[in-house]
Amino acid sequence: MKDLKVNFERLIKDLEELGKIGQDQRGGISRPSFSLPDLEARKWLKARIEEAGLIYRQDGAGNIFGRLSGKSSQVVMAGSHIDTVINGGRYDGSVGVLAALECLRRIKEENLSLNKTLEVASFTDEEGNLVGDFLGSRAFTGQLQKEKLKNARTQFGHPLEEILPKAGLSVESLLRASVDRPEVVAYLELHIEQGPVLEEESVPIGLVSSIAGKRYYQATFVGKAGHAGTTPLELRQDAFLTLADFAVRSTQLVARKYYGNTITIGRVVLKPGSFSIIPGEADFTLDLRSQDSHSLKVMEEEILALASEVSSTRGLSFYRQLVDSTEPVVIPSPMLERLKSLCQKLSYDYFILPSGAGHDAQILASICPVGMIFIPSIDGLSHTPEEAIHLEDLEKAANLLLQALISLASE
Ligand SMILES: [Zn+2]
Repeated sequence: MKDLKVNFERLIKDLEELGKIGQDQRGGISRPSFSLPDLEARKWLKARIEEAGLIYRQDGAGNIFGRLSGKSSQVVMAGSHIDTVINGGRYDGSVGVLAALECLRRIKEENLSLNKTLEVASFTDEEGNLVGDFLGSRAFTGQLQKEKLKNARTQFGHPLEEILPKAGLSVESLLRASVDRPEVVAYLELHIEQGPVLEEESVPIGLVSSIAGKRYYQATFVGKAGHAGTTPLELRQDAFLTLADFAVRSTQLVARKYYGNTITIGRVVLKPGSFSIIPGEADFTLDLRSQDSHSLKVMEEEILALASEVSSTRGLSFYRQLVDSTEPVVIPSPMLERLKSLCQKLSYDYFILPSGAGHDAQILASICPVGMIFIPSIDGLSHTPEEAIHLEDLEKAANLLLQALISLASE
């Protein structure tokens, strides 16, 4: 069992095939959940699961599973997601699902008799193209609220209730996903790093120590629009200048007082949006992240207070709405130690790092111990067609995943 390795050529073939589904004109992959390419990819994955002799199952959230039964019905699960952002890359998510699938295939081929049941999982809409990140894993772990789902609109403005039937699902079926869930006792996720650290460290494998929590606000400064030529500077309530002032001061605050945490204003819309009119309104997104729950909470309070202070000093109003929120997760030390010792056994160099990006593993952490294995992203790139990996890193990470699954399922 110790020397069992994945069939890497087969894994690469899968990656290439899946990478052809949803190719867009800009050279990337566009496979948002329940789009036509996503539905095609789901069909493809179902065929691979059945071809491997695993038991296929789709739950009420459209999460896809392939099961290899063990002596116990307790499940050791590994997976990720196959949906992508618009114009994304080939590896984010896909490597985790396909590596897990390959691990189960190898274990089945070797007729290994394991105590626990193994499942490969592909979670719906990790990327949040519909109504916020992690729809599938949140449904699976029972973290969705009926009222919110009923009123939810996708980022393209369509009611969620109208999109779900395209995939044979409904709000009610989403809510049932957690009820029909098997007893999951561990979850592993292999993923690209989506950052530059592992490449910098020249190691093939990253073991994740914690996953950042996030607060995502949609916010607005409301001032007064006015003529660019006739309104003296001192009489203005310029929403853009207020936002600019806030952006600089809040970033300085985080850098000075909350080192390691992040703040990002990623999207700004100025209204009315004319070159000759003072912006009366600035709509913006505010993304706050931290590896530590307490630090995230305190930073959030201080940043929101700063926004109110900056706006009132300038005579404007500040409004905000919390769109999404996740808590930081610390990987349990027995899981991290297990992965470390397997790396040592396999003679793989590794580096321990926190994840700044959110992952399904973070959501699964609410029901079971989780572990995450990263592989380097070339140039740290992700969510772009240029996303790339070194295939030999994936081979090592997949072999590590295989050994970790065998070890967890043998208990
Ligand atoms: Zn991902």
